Amino acid sequence: MKPELVEVAPGAHAYIQPDGSWMINNTGLVVGDDGSAVLVDTTSTEARNRALLAAVEGVTERRPRALVNTHHHGDHTYGNWLMPADMPIIGHVKCREDVLAAGLLASQVLTGPDYGRIEVRPPDVTFTGSLTLHLGETVVELHHVGPAHTRSDVVVWLPAQRVLFAGDIAFSGGQPFLAEGSVAGYPQALQRIRALEPDVLVPGHGPVCRGDEVTSLLDDLSAYASFVDSLAREGHAAGRTPLEVVRGKAASRFDTWQESERLVGNLHRAYSELDGNDIEARLDVAKVWGDMMAFSGGPIRSHA
Ligand SMILES: [Zn+2]
Repeated sequence: MKPELVEVAPGAHAYIQPDGSWMINNTGLVVGDDGSAVLVDTTSTEARNRALLAAVEGVTERRPRALVNTHHHGDHTYGNWLMPADMPIIGHVKCREDVLAAGLLASQVLTGPDYGRIEVRPPDVTFTGSLTLHLGETVVELHHVGPAHTRSDVVVWLPAQRVLFAGDIAFSGGQPFLAEGSVAGYPQALQRIRALEPDVLVPGHGPVCRGDEVTSLLDDLSAYASFVDSLAREGHAAGRTPLEVVRGKAASRFDTWQESERLVGNLHRAYSELDGNDIEARLDVAKVWGDMMAFSGGPIRSHA
């Protein structure tokens, strides 16, 4: 299935890439009432980024005024370098730090795709808390809701259209990934989103949700957060490793969600928090990915 750019509300466009699995993410485009535009995230491979930019040109003749990064992950930032040099790239201050710290590592861990040319280019306009962009009379609010999926999670909220670009706070159809964020912080981020009462939610991966689908997605994600928390508490108390816990656990309704190996990484994060480590402590990436690969039976491949 090919990616498509869908107008989900006046001026609010979602670029949806099926099937939403590893490195195949969604992005957004907001066109204000004055015709100026802001892009929300880029994507992973050079070919996918060039296809995204071609789709954007089909909607607006004017090049976007700015790019917003919802977080630092490569599937959302590897296209940053394709933006004109004078275009501001906006992100949370920790998104900049983590883009620089991560480099192109994800392209070596998640094997399979021909990434083409990719370069590291971090946000150069950073903020904490919230920031509002004004495209004419069209209001675009950026809110930091992390740590949850990462330390730097920002959601993009259009209050007039009631559209939320949730970044990777929301996976629709896949398991959330909290190894670089926080198991304790995730339910709070979901609550922040819920309080906005979006009519349309564009997840970082997977299909767009509308109306009741938004509520049921948020309910499902909250239930997953509780599931991870209780699995971690039991396993931690019993002295079992995250990998042992996931291998030995009973069947659950989340088993059919894509990328089940993420549960291993999520338990590593939960264990770190139960050990009393700082909520933003970095995990041993080699250990976490090693266990995720052990669970999935080999390298974790992306078909981006
Ligand atoms: Zn991500």
